[in-house]
Amino acid sequence: MSYRAPAREIQFMLDNVVGFSEVAATERYAEATPETVGAILTEAAKLNDEIVAPLQRVGDEQGAVLENGVVRTSPGFKEGYAAIAEGGWVGMSGDPEYGGMGLPFTLNAVFNEFTSAAAISLGLSPLLSQGQIEALETHASDELKALYLPRLNSGEWTGTMNLTEPHAGSDVGALSSKAVPNGDGTYAVTGQKIFISWGDHDVAENVCHLVLARLPDGKPGTKGISLFMVPKLIPDAEGNPGEANSLRVVSLEHKMGLHGSPTAVMSFEGARGWLVGEEHGGMKAMFTMMNNARLQVGVQGIGIAEGAYQHAFDYAMERVQGRSPIENGTGTIMDFADVRRMLTEAKAEIFAARAIALACAVALDMETATGDPEWSARAALLTPIAKSFGTDTGMKVANIGIQVHGGMGFIEETGAAQYARDVRVLPIYEGTNGIQAMDLVARKMMDGGEAAFRLLEDGEAVAEAARKTVPDLANAAWGAAETCREAIEWLVGQDMQDRFAGAVPFQSACARVIGAFFHLRAANAEGGNGPRTALARFYIERLLPEHVALLAQARAGAAGLYALSPEDLAS
Ligand SMILES: Cc1cc2nc3c(=O)[nH]c(=O)nc-3n(C[C@H](O)[C@H](O)[C@H](O)COP(=O)(O)OP(=O)(O)OC[C@H]3O[C@@H](n4cnc5c(N)ncnc54)[C@H](O)[C@@H]3O)c2cc1C
Repeated sequence: MSYRAPAREIQFMLDNVVGFSEVAATERYAEATPETVGAILTEAAKLNDEIVAPLQRVGDEQGAVLENGVVRTSPGFKEGYAAIAEGGWVGMSGDPEYGGMGLPFTLNAVFNEFTSAAAISLGLSPLLSQGQIEALETHASDELKALYLPRLNSGEWTGTMNLTEPHAGSDVGALSSKAVPNGDGTYAVTGQKIFISWGDHDVAENVCHLVLARLPDGKPGTKGISLFMVPKLIPDAEGNPGEANSLRVVSLEHKMGLHGSPTAVMSFEGARGWLVGEEHGGMKAMFTMMNNARLQVGVQGIGIAEGAYQHAFDYAMERVQGRSPIENGTGTIMDFADVRRMLTEAKAEIFAARAIALACAVALDMETATGDPEWSARAALLTPIAKSFGTDTGMKVANIGIQVHGGMGFIEETGAAQYARDVRVLPIYEGTNGIQAMDLVARKMMDGGEAAFRLLEDGEAVAEAARKTVPDLANAAWGAAETCREAIEWLVGQDMQDRFAGAVPFQSACARVIGAFFHLRAANAEGGNGPRTALARFYIERLLPEHVALLAQARAGAAGLYALSPEDLAS
């Protein structure tokens, strides 16, 4: 399907909105010069426009299948994956010592946005490998690093994450997979995992499973879980894929979307595994991969939103219905106020979600480059917001895309519906958005709201700077920051049950308010006059006010949610 990766828009945002220059100014990322970044954006756009995007429909219509125990991916996926791997895109942020390119994670996130817009089912595989690379770099032994990282960075092998079991979804601590020491430094891993994305395939020569399992002396709950590298083919002495491990794909799920991504039920049957990190320290190690993936899933939502938006825009510019209500219009449905509302809302939301995700990625890069705990706190605070708002935006814009198409949006051949089907899992996997919100109001507020207050202060500084150019918008953003601050002061005084009851609306309100700061920054960058200012005005006047209603919900407490009993709900 046609897609035009928004490389120029990203360049503007890196330069003017999310402070990427700070990353490029660090010693660690000194190579991320403006020329290099420009070249990367151009090449990433070209690859996704020309090679990945044509695989979007075929991945949907001819999804992955399991035949005689072997997974076959959609026609063209093998070649598409090879182009991604050969371009070095899988290992773009990997450690150069192990064959990675050592580029900032921010650029990796941009690449994943493009790939998710172009063909999310295919893009999910490199995304998972990237998370695994980071987890191994941080927690694996030198031997495991030397063996696996060069092959993962090059894309010769791919990575998966195996957490979920039939009875252990959000509650990972309930898992029952077991690992028993073999006596030779390896472990026998046994258990069934479900919903494993890219659990098997034919696009690369080996599949490296990171599997959570419990050792015989592991306590119940998350503290007793360990992490293991369990390869599909056990590397021989030269590091080449050798003997088959004792694991198999039981079945592939039939899903409402993401048909090109093989989602496997995996059975590990005494499979040989190697410990990653400390015994019983598996959750800590897996969290590295999960945190990486959380932001990247938010980015997937933004990619889908951009793809759906472009699709709807193109349709609106062609579809003729009735008389145009404006002079010198296009003569198409683009001239109708409600269609303009839908498209402008989509564009304003994409900008806000993209800015939040990129700001989170910048904070992660600054954390890596400087080790400064302030940046760690900023990244930790923004991660659940970026994941949830990015994926909510994907859902919203995919639906807008269908509505703009009218009846044709409901007909598969236009491709508008695919975005809505593919995006639906994003608020569910990698920790549901509800779980993200609980993380935000609990763990991320353990500092009494300090990190959040600092973020609001930065936002108020943006509003101050914009007072001369767009005083009314600056004023509105400033007021929203104050309202948000009061809500946080209230929140940190509540017990957990009341916090959790309002967690989702609170998270949405935070995204609304933070999004306004970034819109304001973009407006200010063009001197308060031009299309970015018009978009900021749309967002601040029409969408930002939602934060008031959301915060009212956030403060309503838990009691009302239990006022209706299950019997009342049933009747
Ligand atoms: C297409 C697809 C791909 C996936 N890929 C992978 C993968 O590669 N690896 C992997 O390990 N897993 C994967 N998953 C699994 C995914 O991460 C889980 O589905 C997800 O974590 C939710 O778990 P669950 O489905 O068991 O839902 P449940 O945990 O049963 O949740 C059901 C509902 O209850 C809510 N809920 C649950 N617990 C709480 C709580 N404590 N407080 C408040 N609300 C709660 C949830 O928010 C949700 O709304 C994938 C899933 C899908 C559908």
